[in-house]
Amino acid sequence: MEYNHNNIFAKILRKEIPADIVYEDEYALAFHDINPKAPVHILVIPKGDFISFFDFSMNAAPELIVGFHKAIHHVIRAYKLQNEGFRILSNHGANAGQEVPHYHIHIFGGRPLGRMLSPE
Ligand code: 5GP
Repeated sequence: MEYNHNNIFAKILRKEIPADIVYEDEYALAFHDINPKAPVHILVIPKGDFISFFDFSMNAAPELIVGFHKAIHHVIRAYKLQNEGFRILSNHGANAGQEVPHYHIHIFGGRPLGRMLSPE
């Protein structure tokens, strides 16, 4: 599968469409999910053309992999989620219901988050 440069997060990265940005550095951009599922629901995306975790974890430069994870850490710390707890999640493909084909990590927090997966 080829990376699609017209996906919505690519447009947010290029600042062609707005997002409620909470953090940005040379490796990553973080912004509020437009349809939040928890009091804190932030998306963190790497600055690079990667479709999902499966693509990123094999093909991204080591410096970007480290920088991206530190950006996630920075957001978790900025929202003080580490004491009460949080969940990070990333979808790949149809079974996971991935909607946007640019790699992103969801950060959820701010309330008890329930079961890890919804029942079948
Ligand atoms: P996925 O299902 O691909 O893991 O998650 C995609 C997420 O992106 C969804 O939670 C959805 O609400 C969010 N989303 C989709 N379009 C936009 C958008 O244009 N702006 C923002 N901020 N979030 C979006």
